[in-house]
Amino acid sequence: MAVAEIVTIGTELLLGEIHDTNSRYIARVLRDIGVDLYRLTTVGDNVQRITATLQEALMRADIVITTGGLGPTVDDPTREAVARVFNVPLVYHEELWQQIQEWFSRYNRTPTENNKRQAYIPANGIAIKNDVGTAPAFAFELGTKTVISLPGVPREMEYLMQHFVRSYLKQRYGLKETVIKPWVIHTIFKSESSIDELVGDLEKLSNPTVGLLAHPGQTDIRVTAKAESAAEAEKMMEPVLAIIREKLGNYIYGENETTLEEAVADILAQNDATVTLIEVGTKGEILAKLKAHTPERVHGEFIDGKISVETLKALMADAQNQQHSTLALGIMLSSESDKQDLTLILQAPDAERMQQRSYGGPPGDGQIWAVNSALDAIRRYFLKY
Ligand code: ATP
Repeated sequence: MAVAEIVTIGTELLLGEIHDTNSRYIARVLRDIGVDLYRLTTVGDNVQRITATLQEALMRADIVITTGGLGPTVDDPTREAVARVFNVPLVYHEELWQQIQEWFSRYNRTPTENNKRQAYIPANGIAIKNDVGTAPAFAFELGTKTVISLPGVPREMEYLMQHFVRSYLKQRYGLKETVIKPWVIHTIFKSESSIDELVGDLEKLSNPTVGLLAHPGQTDIRVTAKAESAAEAEKMMEPVLAIIREKLGNYIYGENETTLEEAVADILAQNDATVTLIEVGTKGEILAKLKAHTPERVHGEFIDGKISVETLKALMADAQNQQHSTLALGIMLSSESDKQDLTLILQAPDAERMQQRSYGGPPGDGQIWAVNSALDAIRRYFLKY
């Protein structure tokens, strides 16, 4: 498998004046054609440092793609650095100079003598015609190694990636178009570390890969397979998904696009059940989320501000007298500056529970955690786990 590194060149990048969007774009193209990207480096407009960076990158990678530093000014040093790396002189290409002149004449302008610098590329390099800008790009091959130098301007770089680099690399390295297929399993209220204990072995796999991503009260397990077709990728990940499903059981509320509120709405429908909610301090978010999916099975109200547990219970009893829902749930989140306390009261003919929990994460996430806790309480009641 061909391995690549990207080197973005430009002092502006190091000064934080512009975002490096080029790396992201190139990374995606490489991913799509099945090239493994191992490292991104950014270096300023300095010939010595660029030369050293390229030399190091070439010791590790087959393909090094650079962007930037191809302009006509003295501080555009990429050509010079690539020539030094391969120990060749820069040579003038009349056809590149013609292309630069044509580009300028299209806009009724005349190139300066400085622009002539752009017609020089390292000897034995492959000139890459730039149809969308003045700076010609080039590739340099030595054995199995390749350096490709593209302009910094994103539009020009993108054009050349699509119209030259993609097919050039596929041909040179015999690459097949690959599909990278992600599959996400959503779990609820099982900590990242305890999931890690259960599926840690799978996280060592290389294809498919398995990774965890924690959110307040939820952890996603992301399985990604790389193959020549989506069907093949799915087949490769199926045994891994089966192990995860078996180990996590009811902690899994859904997969891929499924949201927690959708999963809860489905459970209510499967049980032909209704729920009455009294929501305090969570801005009506739980009601809104459930009503978006199953308006006929959800009743209740939300209250801003603070009330006592007794008042919450009384409000639940009042609402239930009118609605006679399968389940009543009271949720009360009190947010102090550094402390978030949640009271959850669940009442059903066969169950009556009250839980008090505190949230220790960042204050802004307390609301999400409380909403997830409430939705999960409904799931747990019906799934009995
Ligand atoms: P040209 O001569 O066509 O300007 P160049 O190769 O000399 O091309 P630079 O001068 O290094 O390119 O960069 C030109 C502009 O492209 C920068 O001012 C910046 O706006 C943008 N640019 C450069 N590198 C990046 C990058 N990594 N990500 C996003 N934008 C970039």
